[in-house]
Amino acid sequence: MDINTPLTKVRKIDRKRQAALKKLGLVTIQDLLFYFPKRYDDFSVITPINKLRLDERATIRGQIKAISTNRTPRRRMMITEAVVSDDSGSIKVVWFNQPYVERSLPVGVYAVLHGKIEMGYQTKWQLTSPVFERYKEDAVHTGRLVPVYAETAGLTSRWLRFVLKPLLKKVSEIEDWLPSETKESQDLIDLTEAIKQIHFPASREAMQAARRRLSFDELFLIQLNSLLKKAAWQKHKSYAIKFDEPLVKKFVGKLPFTLTGAQKIATWEILQDLEKSEPMNRLLEGDVGSGKTVVAAIAALQAVKAGQQVALMVPTEILAGQHFTSLGKLLQPFRVKVGIFTRSKISASGTEISKSEMVKLIKAGKLDLTIGTHALIQEKVKFKNLALAIIDEQHRFGVEQRAKLKKIDQQPQTAPHLLSMTATPIPRTLALGIYGDLDLSVIDELPPGRQQILTKLVAPYNRDKAYDFIRTKVREGRQVFVVCPLIEESDKLGVKSATEEYNKLSRKIFPELKIGLLHGRLKKEEKEQVMGDFVAGKLDILVSTSVIEVGIDVPNATIMMIEGAERFGLAQLHQFRGRVGRGEQQSYCFLFTEAGGERVQERLGAIVECHDGFKLAEKDLDMRGPGEVYGLQQSGLPDLRMASLTDYELIKEAKQEAEKLLDKGGDLDKHRELTKRLAEFAETVHLE
Ligand code: ADP
Ligand code: MG
Repeated sequence: MDINTPLTKVRKIDRKRQAALKKLGLVTIQDLLFYFPKRYDDFSVITPINKLRLDERATIRGQIKAISTNRTPRRRMMITEAVVSDDSGSIKVVWFNQPYVERSLPVGVYAVLHGKIEMGYQTKWQLTSPVFERYKEDAVHTGRLVPVYAETAGLTSRWLRFVLKPLLKKVSEIEDWLPSETKESQDLIDLTEAIKQIHFPASREAMQAARRRLSFDELFLIQLNSLLKKAAWQKHKSYAIKFDEPLVKKFVGKLPFTLTGAQKIATWEILQDLEKSEPMNRLLEGDVGSGKTVVAAIAALQAVKAGQQVALMVPTEILAGQHFTSLGKLLQPFRVKVGIFTRSKISASGTEISKSEMVKLIKAGKLDLTIGTHALIQEKVKFKNLALAIIDEQHRFGVEQRAKLKKIDQQPQTAPHLLSMTATPIPRTLALGIYGDLDLSVIDELPPGRQQILTKLVAPYNRDKAYDFIRTKVREGRQVFVVCPLIEESDKLGVKSATEEYNKLSRKIFPELKIGLLHGRLKKEEKEQVMGDFVAGKLDILVSTSVIEVGIDVPNATIMMIEGAERFGLAQLHQFRGRVGRGEQQSYCFLFTEAGGERVQERLGAIVECHDGFKLAEKDLDMRGPGEVYGLQQSGLPDLRMASLTDYELIKEAKQEAEKLLDKGGDLDKHRELTKRLAEFAETVHLE
């Protein structure tokens, strides 16, 4: 047996558990050793029985004075009851459906038990379902910090500890992949020691040292990955576009508004990147309505006037149409040839053309700016001289789609300058942790004079009032978005939740109104159709899931109603809210929630008060962590075992160390173990 032996060969692991382990992606002994605890219960402090407190968890140590198991007549449950005494007193202990406990803890033995003190029968206190161990010096389960693992069907923390303990001997076979200079400079413990201590910490300090080492590893690998990617990207040649000050001044002068300070800075950062002959890779972040489009337009104009082509990729046909209209207008005075390339609409210079004609125009370099959907990244489409590729709502595209867009220039060695835009507010510090290879521009200021969207938390008993209000507004000609949460795990596409809401509204609540339905099972064309009807005002209400973000402009929609609001993150709720408030009329956002808990109220209270996407995101990060806030897949966040993506201090150090290491040799060839580990890691946590 060695570290790579499959877990199926380990004797103690039965069939059922093999399956459960496999489901967690744990195949070899090494995998299991890297399955780290989620948290620790502190059993290191023993409480005398007479000092126990109601409703608190505690560890006691004493002698079993009595124990017996009985079956309850009505609920057909096995109840094991024991009495445990120490020098200070005694307490009743109860277990449910664990009759084997009686055999493990016969009268007279000493044991350590950890659990919660609850009010039992006849108001007597009892210790309920504690974990326990007969008392001996090297107690595995109790008497110290005890690891708690994420438990899934068939795997308990207790069982994992039992299996892990003997396997831990194998840890010495793992070679430490961290260069010794990095370890020294960061004062990190060895990998072997870290793995031992993370599973069975000798003390709190030892556990913390292990955590730091293992967290550092993850963040360091992420940074290395980013830096290597960045270096590879910058090996490409790109079109250097000289800053044309008179041109930009002229464009800005023609705008019906003045740019905000944040827009100016972002524009400046982008134009400076464009001057370089290595390709830009920049993320432009800005709240909904912060005016990202005009910034992109300036960059596009520069590239076009320098004689190059520009592509703009967006996730939906409708958004492509809206950009086609608005950018067309902005760029018209400069005689930029703008085309649209989607499944249902292909047109250039005001005339509809065929797909093959479009492909030809692009290839010949006769179209300056091509706005399109996924249609742009089809095999056949090759640009003559694509200097700038822009992706709007970049989080809506997958890794592969983004990668394709980087490669649509004809020359394989050239790459376009890449500008990704998103309204997902990721604080700079967090972005540094995950998107290390990107440069970041942030528009953190809205144009002046924007109306505030009236946001209200609606309690269940006020539901009818809210419905009446909506009815009145629809009668005045306004439109309404309704967003439903995903309630069941199995309903990933939101078919069930959205359909139920649709049925309820269209049959019971608003039978007189025209209501549309949007969910993940609909075909692309069907979705576009429903959205199109809503944009055109043919529908009063649009019921949709959160999966379908509606990143579009419907100035007539003034009410956003969100069901099960507690199920969404603040940043996400804020994005939904940004769908309204785009016209002249006062707009409203109603948050419906049945959950009355204090935390929920506090969280949702924040969105009622605060209208700044970045502040909300930061608040949400504090309360829930990045995975919850942004969704792992959606944001391309790596699925880390140990490190926190909000541990900015450690991220900074990991980044510095990664830079130091690459600065020396320029590559990782000397560090074979590290190279191997990086490949493995990138695979398991889905690094881009
Ligand atoms: P987003 O960042 O969500 O893509 P848009 O670029 O669509 O936002 O801009 C939203 C609206 O704000 C547009 O109608 C645009 O013309 C307008 N706008 C952009 N910048 C400014 C500004 N500096 N002052 C006033 N209005 C602006
Ligand atoms: Mg936009």
